[in-house]
Amino acid sequence: MNLHKIIFDSTLYQKLKNTVLIDEDGEKMEYTLEYLITHFSERVELYCTKCKDKRVFTPDKVYRDAPRVPNVQFLPQLVRNEPTLYKTFRCSLNSQHKILYGFLVDGEQIIKIAEYPSKYDSVKDGFNKYENVLSKQNISELAKASQLESYGYAIGAFLYYRRIFENLIIKTFINTDIKEKISEDDFRKKRMEDKIEYIQEYLPDYFNENSHIYSTLSKGIHELQEAECREYLPIVQTIIYFSLDEAVDKRNKELRKKEFANKLKNINTKLK
Ligand SMILES: [Zn+2]
Repeated sequence: MNLHKIIFDSTLYQKLKNTVLIDEDGEKMEYTLEYLITHFSERVELYCTKCKDKRVFTPDKVYRDAPRVPNVQFLPQLVRNEPTLYKTFRCSLNSQHKILYGFLVDGEQIIKIAEYPSKYDSVKDGFNKYENVLSKQNISELAKASQLESYGYAIGAFLYYRRIFENLIIKTFINTDIKEKISEDDFRKKRMEDKIEYIQEYLPDYFNENSHIYSTLSKGIHELQEAECREYLPIVQTIIYFSLDEAVDKRNKELRKKEFANKLKNINTKLK
């Protein structure tokens, strides 16, 4: 059991067993996730959508809704409520910047029922560093892919990542100077494995090291299996981020080169 994963990474409406056994000095002790989430007191680094950067967040004490409530249907007695707990975390820079996670206890299960800001908002901003190397549409697709993944929709997420991956491959094709290069149309018609083979020497090594995933990248939607997509998601994701980071680095280097060249030019003109 990993409490961090449960609070921060679990998907919405994922059902978890409330009772857990924890090893304490060799003895198995019974706890409930409800208790553990309530008493979670660690500071954590999370992305603050207001600061637009990573910040240290400190948990508030949990608040719950009322254990008994009036309801016109069931008057005069009060209705007993299953506990709902909200775990909130405050940004170290501003106490009004908060992240909220809601959990509902339903019998033997505990379910994440709320998360705000959404994973989409949290990841979308983080992708802005790619705005110079990726189209706006691709950035929003990257964020959607993460969002779908966070909901546990592996096939949907996989399809978005695949579009971005394909775009990176096509961009590389356009920028290569292969002798007697085929037309872009002909290139687009090729299967993913063949596309990659065609421009292999222009791709970083990690593309070739993970070639076993490319047949899956060529599959039709109806052929894709949820489990297969879930297994390959992290690989496609990593390749995409690697090549995006590389593109950002390359662009920054070129910009710096230009900047230095301009500076030198200015100095030389002054010296004349
Ligand atoms: Zn903040």
